[in-house]
Amino acid sequence: MARPEARVPIADNHAHANPVRGMGAREIARRFRASGGALLVLVSLPARELGLSPGSRDDLERSYSMVVESAREAREEGLLGAAILGFHPAEVAELLGAGRSPADVLEFGELSVRLAARFVDEGLASGYGEYGRPHWDADPSLVELCDRITLMALRAARDHGGVVHVHSERANPDTVRRMYAMASAAGVDPSRIVLHHALPSSIDPASAVGMAPSVPAGRRGELEEAIRHGPRFVIESDFLDDPARPGAVTTPWGLSKRVHRLIRSGAMDEEFYMKTLEIYKKLYNIEIARGAQRNFLSLCSA
Ligand SMILES: [Zn+2]
Repeated sequence: MARPEARVPIADNHAHANPVRGMGAREIARRFRASGGALLVLVSLPARELGLSPGSRDDLERSYSMVVESAREAREEGLLGAAILGFHPAEVAELLGAGRSPADVLEFGELSVRLAARFVDEGLASGYGEYGRPHWDADPSLVELCDRITLMALRAARDHGGVVHVHSERANPDTVRRMYAMASAAGVDPSRIVLHHALPSSIDPASAVGMAPSVPAGRRGELEEAIRHGPRFVIESDFLDDPARPGAVTTPWGLSKRVHRLIRSGAMDEEFYMKTLEIYKKLYNIEIARGAQRNFLSLCSA
């Protein structure tokens, strides 16, 4: 039976807006909204991507303000917008490579968490990220330093609320075990952890302990595989908003097309997708609802 062009409200759990080199949040939000977008979660970019100095306190604060401003622009364009602020593990490596001492980088990591927590306290950010480990085969001392900084982010989530977007190569069952141990050490509920770039194989172990696996929309076959694990995952574009790498990942509106195509083809039913929206509600304390008639979105302000 041919389905009417029913549209569901689409959430993108992890995307980047680059107001310096890219199209910026307003244009991203317009295109996403036109495709059925409802929630856009915007995550910090490394300083260098924004033409800022890595390891500079002032520039860190500037970069955080850009994400907060981007989330505000997304809301002005009719979306729900959330900001996630942090210090990427690639930047930990970059600072060490530039000759900063591990103690100095650790201190900067702590500052990055403290500053993000301040934005969370003020209601301007929904959490911390990306924290985690480098996604390449890194030196054990670098990995240890990254883990110590990630632990600080988890403690901030415990004390100030908010979620932590955890970066790793591809989150798999080992990542779940490791992050579960880290959450226990930090005394934070694992449900505060979002596994960025998650493999479908992480869905069962992650959801068993309450973590949110965030599956990329741009990888062939992975959403189809994720669906077999039940409505226990969220979906991300990981859009970079980098004109130099246009095909690196999908876009928020590409994510939207993928979801609608999965529904049209019968690979995923609407109720299944609507159930996954409950996860965003818990993570970001927002309500995504299906509206009436053609106006498919009924939005509450974040
Ligand atoms: Zn990302």
